[in-house]
Amino acid sequence: MAVSHIAFPDLVALLEAIFVRFGTSRQVAAILADNCARCERDGAKSHGVFRMKGYTDSLATGWVDGRAEPVLEEAAAGFLRVDAQNGFAQPALALGRDVLIEKTRANGIALLAIRNSHHLSALWPDLEPFAEQGFIALSTVNSFACTVPHGGQSAVFGTNPIAFAAPTRSGEPVVFDMATSSMANGDVQIAAREGNQLPAGAGVDSNGNPTTDPSAVLNGGALLPFGGHKGSSISMMIELLSAALTGGNYSFEFDWSGHPGAATPLTGQLIILIDAARAGGAPFGVRAETLIDEMASAGVKRFPGQHRFAARKRSDAEGIALGVDDLNWLEALAAD
Ligand code: NDP
Repeated sequence: MAVSHIAFPDLVALLEAIFVRFGTSRQVAAILADNCARCERDGAKSHGVFRMKGYTDSLATGWVDGRAEPVLEEAAAGFLRVDAQNGFAQPALALGRDVLIEKTRANGIALLAIRNSHHLSALWPDLEPFAEQGFIALSTVNSFACTVPHGGQSAVFGTNPIAFAAPTRSGEPVVFDMATSSMANGDVQIAAREGNQLPAGAGVDSNGNPTTDPSAVLNGGALLPFGGHKGSSISMMIELLSAALTGGNYSFEFDWSGHPGAATPLTGQLIILIDAARAGGAPFGVRAETLIDEMASAGVKRFPGQHRFAARKRSDAEGIALGVDDLNWLEALAAD
């Protein structure tokens, strides 16, 4: 496959033009384009430009409002809510971000509960900047029913990611971000597109039988939670936090059948922020590095986040590697 390299600001500008062309406000376009380009830059391919079709299809069918103006509500001293008004989750977070930080500094902890929102991206771009500012951050998002709870027969949960970010004293923040299904839906779609099989235990077909065929999972089948009953309980918690607590939909509650092609789940997102400066004992960042050093001494060579940070350095030095076909496709989308 022929590859070309594009500078980060150029990719952001290209994606921004596409979002605007598909009807978003300039502000929403800027936020989403930055988010999507950051995923591509960091090698998070399942949430990079690959997702542009999902974004544009959802916008074109009128399923998501690209011009929505989110509304911020203060439920308690440390409990903020944002009604995304059927818009994307990231602009809702952008609206609440500064107040969330202010409340966290004042109270030591605060949360932002976003509802009526569409999240089609990875979670780490939402959290990593908080850790860079000295906060510990945890976020959950539910998605659309495509994962069978442990012991069940049909899909109830989404792929339901959970992400965590924490500062270190001097190095990159500690960040992990993972689906609680056996794998992310984007990776199933990529496997189907590229003709690859899924790992054993990833999903079931439409008859509930185990399968490694991505098309069988996507067409009437379902994913399984990671880690059997344990992963299933974490996924259940994510439904409760992202939907019941925020006031958003569970993954099985919204009906997008009137918008064929829509790809952005209409659910909710929870973000919990803790002020690491309030930690007892030695500074949190120092203690975080003690743990990392001990893990390294135990032989750990690969830490969560490391893969992305390495890809980021590469992209910053050489430009973001994009397939020429993908680049042509994006340019056509922006120009049509
Ligand atoms: P992965 O399984 O690829 O990675 C999960 C985490 O584990 C990452 O932090 C990763 O770090 C780390 N990791 C991976 N391999 C290793 C290893 N060998 N040793 C140590 N750490 C490792 O992620 P998923 O496929 O589960 O999820 C991918 C993305 O999909 C996430 O960003 C998630 O937010 C997103 N998603 C979004 C949804 C939505 O509705 N918006 C729904 C479901 C998923 P690193 O980053 O360095 O690779």
